[in-house]
Amino acid sequence: MKKIVLASKNLDKVKEMRLVLKNLPLEILSLADFDNLPDAVEDGATFEDNALIKAKFFRENTGLACLADDSGLEVDALNGLPGVYSARFAGYHADDVTNNQKLLDELKKIGVNESAAAYRCALVFVDTDGTELLTEGKISGKIKTVAQGNGGFGYDPYFYIDDKRTMAQLPVDEKNKISHRGTALRKMILKLKEKFS
Ligand code: IMP
Repeated sequence: MKKIVLASKNLDKVKEMRLVLKNLPLEILSLADFDNLPDAVEDGATFEDNALIKAKFFRENTGLACLADDSGLEVDALNGLPGVYSARFAGYHADDVTNNQKLLDELKKIGVNESAAAYRCALVFVDTDGTELLTEGKISGKIKTVAQGNGGFGYDPYFYIDDKRTMAQLPVDEKNKISHRGTALRKMILKLKEKFS
């Protein structure tokens, strides 16, 4: 069976992606299956740029076909931030707690409790023969400054999909059905099926 590597160290993301990809005739590895891999420099201006940078980098460093996602949150009241800085909004050593605090601080500074927002995801697959496939997904919602739920990861406790529920209140399979990454993955599966089945 053909092996592919998911270019992420984020175990929550890998779990979400594996679940959607499980019926493809592919053996799915992640960066956690390799020792001493260098880090990719994600300095692209868009999610697409960064996904392509990661897919090419880990395809070269693992010798395997690679599927990379780059994703993040865009908040209208913050002019699209954190955007491509979502993972490190609170600085180089940021984590979900400090990033969420930074989000709340930035909203407080401008006196906003609620704003339209969207999660976006770009997925890039780079095969060993150099073929590149790209898909995208988006989910619109609202950021509110009151957290709800313990599921998901990242900004999920503050991302409201309707007036009552946040992404952090959805079981992972329900999140995948509507999420930016789930949508991008389902589009990618169609392309991968065309290529590999
Ligand atoms: P990446 O790993 O460079 O793509 O960074 C993605 C960052 O965007 C994550 O660290 C989270 O902060 C945020 N993010 C992306 N997708 C999600 C999601 O599904 N829920 C919550 N936060 C997300």
